Amino acid sequence: MTDRPKDALRPATQLVQGGRRPEWTGDPRLGGGIVNPPVWRASTILYDNVADLKARGHATHDRLFYGRRGTPTVWALADALTGLEPGAEGTLLYPSGVAAISAGLLALLAPGDHLLMVDSVYEPTRAFCDGMLARYGVTTSYYDPCIGAGIADLIRPETRLIFLESPGSLTFEVQDIPAITAIARERDIVTMLDNTWATPLLFPAMRHGVDVTMMSLTKYVGGHSDAMMGSLTATRAPWPRLRQAAYQLGQSVSPDECALMLRGLRTLDVRLQRHGENGLAVARWLAEQSQVGRVLHPALPDDPGHALWRRDFAGASGLFGFTLKGADDATRAQFVDALAHFGIGYSWGGFESLAVPCDPAGLRTATEWSDPDPLVRLSIGLEDPADLIDDLSRGFAAMEGAI
Ligand SMILES: *Cc1c(COP(=O)(O)O)cnc(C)c1O
Repeated sequence: MTDRPKDALRPATQLVQGGRRPEWTGDPRLGGGIVNPPVWRASTILYDNVADLKARGHATHDRLFYGRRGTPTVWALADALTGLEPGAEGTLLYPSGVAAISAGLLALLAPGDHLLMVDSVYEPTRAFCDGMLARYGVTTSYYDPCIGAGIADLIRPETRLIFLESPGSLTFEVQDIPAITAIARERDIVTMLDNTWATPLLFPAMRHGVDVTMMSLTKYVGGHSDAMMGSLTATRAPWPRLRQAAYQLGQSVSPDECALMLRGLRTLDVRLQRHGENGLAVARWLAEQSQVGRVLHPALPDDPGHALWRRDFAGASGLFGFTLKGADDATRAQFVDALAHFGIGYSWGGFESLAVPCDPAGLRTATEWSDPDPLVRLSIGLEDPADLIDDLSRGFAAMEGAI
């Protein structure tokens, strides 16, 4: 394919070439050369003889052993994701984003350990920390997403992991990730980032000092709202513990889903660019409407996270929020219900636009979300943004009783 070292490929090229090793894309005895890694479905693998069976019991990544350990379709997706984070040792795949987060935290923490968790984290991550991790003797403290280097004051002798998510779920605060990872490295504390919003294309996490980067592939990588999966990509030090835990927990993904994810991955760069442009066009329009309190989008110059976003991110994706000035729950519902081009539903990152009402106030413990205006989260899809803007105008009219 190329004589450049794989790490030197630029991301858009890596998206096209990643995971397409000749031994995974066709049997050379048949001529080889299938463009996409085929769907290799397997549970049982047949061995030539007993010696072969015994030898392959110790195989790891690229010898077929048993279906749960993956087949070339699975390895191709993992390999392509690893290639997007230069410096990464490898990638593990999980049946959902939440499964990736919980398996990663279980792998890296033990009873008596302390975890620092960002207060604007995705709600199911908080539920796992306060539920299962607490029962297993891990203590979680939540920290202000805007804490930056102030994280140093919260570190205890038993702090083993700092979890980051930037921008934050629902409220979109941008974290000073390089400041936090620099402190964590000095103290030998592992950092894990939920990078679902940006993906490595907009935020190359390992270049900013992150040890373990997580994605819900369900969102932008899949991109078509028809498949679920999660990933952890790790540097060398945490990699063996993560892999061993994934094996012991029996984490396994279907090759059919991996083929869908690989298909999404090939077009991730162009889709993300369009999601970002469309999102910004809608966000800028919203910022000028009298019915809007504020728009929570880090690419807008007056957003509190804008300076950090500009410094660290290569662009914005299409997910952001805005508040309805002086509205209540019922008028917010009128607004959302009146939209024709936005589906009402969870998840995001697909080609179709979505709108959901969100209430972050009850999901905080270290900080306070005190904005009284109700919040709506938009996932901006690949439609023409002018149609989306017309639709949002209709929503405002419905809210005011005009239609
Ligand atoms: C959706 C989401 C997840 C969980 O992903 P699933 O694939 O739905 O389990 C994790 N983090 C963030 C930020 C998300 O939005």
